[in-house]
Amino acid sequence: MSLIQLDIVSPRRLLYSKDVRMVIARAQSGEIGILPGHLPIVATLEPGVMRVKLEDESEEKIVVSGGFLEVSKEKITVLARTAELPEEIDVDRALQARERAEKRLKELSKDRVDQARAKAALDRAMARLNVIGRK
Ligand code: ATP
Repeated sequence: MSLIQLDIVSPRRLLYSKDVRMVIARAQSGEIGILPGHLPIVATLEPGVMRVKLEDESEEKIVVSGGFLEVSKEKITVLARTAELPEEIDVDRALQARERAEKRLKELSKDRVDQARAKAALDRAMARLNVIGRK
């Protein structure tokens, strides 16, 4: 079966560059699966867990906190706001971030911008906890 190169880049680093069988990501329009030979597209990513299928059928997970996914003929490029491998996740930090965001969402302020920021922070923390199997 054919493979396609996947690069995952964040402002901090090139996190990932491998030839892969398939990528499954959470786009704004819903979950998308990309196989080699997919039509060129650009999609906006939601905070969530990307699943990557490798040549030997094993699967790797990468958590991204939003960004863009571009498919060209040659490769798939993910420009992520942030991206981490499961083993890089600091659990306590994510738990604290979730608690902070939940508290903010419950506070009286109904300021839309504050609410949206808190919701986004909550989504990021949940995605990080999700990738390491923490509820
Ligand atoms: P926090 O409130 O804990 O900073 P955040 O969601 O606001 O969380 P981001 O702005 O998404 O943090 O990320 C800032 C940097 O910290 C990025 O480089 C990201 O990869 C890293 N990072 C954030 N949370 C974690 C975590 N729980 N474990 C490992 N790295 C993290």
